[in-house]
Order: sequence, then structure tokens, then C-alpha cells
Amino acid sequence: MKTYDEIIPEFLSDDDCRQALMKPVLIEEHVFASNGHIAIKIPVSKLLKTYESNPNYPDIVSLYEKVEGLFQSPIIYKVENISELLKQVPLTDVETQCTNCQGTGSIWSKDDSKEPETCKICDGSGYVATGKKEYDWQNHKIQIGLAYFNPNYVEKLLNVATINDIKEVKHVYGTPMSKHLFIIDDLEIIMMPIRLGIKELPEYSVHKLTWRKR
Ligand SMILES: [Zn+2]
Repeated sequence: MKTYDEIIPEFLSDDDCRQALMKPVLIEEHVFASNGHIAIKIPVSKLLKTYESNPNYPDIVSLYEKVEGLFQSPIIYKVENISELLKQVPLTDVETQCTNCQGTGSIWSKDDSKEPETCKICDGSGYVATGKKEYDWQNHKIQIGLAYFNPNYVEKLLNVATINDIKEVKHVYGTPMSKHLFIIDDLEIIMMPIRLGIKELPEYSVHKLTWRKR
């Protein structure tokens, strides 16, 4: 069985430009991890490993301080409903920039007079498959209340809940534009909704999470 320590890497940034976010950080009695889109806060008492503080880490404590819910008490979602909802979302190949053409799709010859050739590795698209799969977030959104979320981040809620077989997720509901707090056991996850223009909506498949009676 997984531990909460093992879930932390799912929340880290893999972006070299965000060095501090590539590691978790210890702040007083909690360990935080975030990739800039989603963040997790775990009590030290729930972790087996030791973690280090980092004075250069962005101010993540204040991210958690002011979560203004629209409702007075959290909404409760069943974890099994989240699981069922994600099954409706198709998977797609994770792509990365083609290194042969640096993502341009074209190969220039040393002879300036020749036209560039289409990159044979990526067939001119500039991207190649990594062999990994993810939810097709570009065409599918998860609707929770009035807000829309990336299914790949919603899956992380599921992954956290699965560790200790937690059945319910508490949701301190934000607005379609503001941060949302999800509480699983005594772990806290902050997720930003996808900001969609109203005109954009019909282009997406929307999978709506229904909430449990209290
Ligand atoms: Zn290429």
C-alpha cells in the first residue's frame, strides 16, 4: 500500500524554471508540495520521512489562509463518484517538444538557399509522444459546482483518498475563478479551476460531479 510520502511527487513541479517547487517543503507542522496549479498540505504526523524547510520557497502558507467558501459548510462528495466520473474521460498521449527540430517542425539545411524540410521525427507537428497517458484535459473538463477542473488534477484527489481508503472528500467551494479547497482525511488540497470564456464551453465535454446529501 502507498503512503502519503509516496503521493508527494505527484504534486511537485517538473519545470526547471520553478526550482523551489520541484521539492516539498516543511513549514512548522506541515509539509507542502505544489506545481503552481495544485497544492497539498500534509500534517507531519501523517508522514514517515523527514522533510526540509526552504527559505526560498514561495509563500504557500498564505495560499491556504484565505480560502473563502461561497457556502458556510463544506460540500461533501463521495470518492466513488469521482472515480466513476473519471472513467468517462478518455486518455490521450502525453506529448513533449520534439528535440530533433526543437519543436519547430522543420529542419533547416546549412545551405541557406534550400527550403527547410519537414522534420521526419515529429512529422512537422513539433511534438512527439512520451509513451505516457493522461486524461484528455483539452477536450474534457470536470465540473464541480460552477467551476471547471482539469481531470488530471481531479485524479490526484482520488489518488490521495485511495491511500487510506477515505470515502468522502470535503469541498470548500470557491467561485468559478477562485481557488477551491478539498479536504481528505486531514490533508488539504488547493486546486485552481480552469478559467473558461463563456463562449468556449460548448467546445468541451463536461463531466459533472454530483454531490452527496449531507
Ligand atoms: Zn520534429
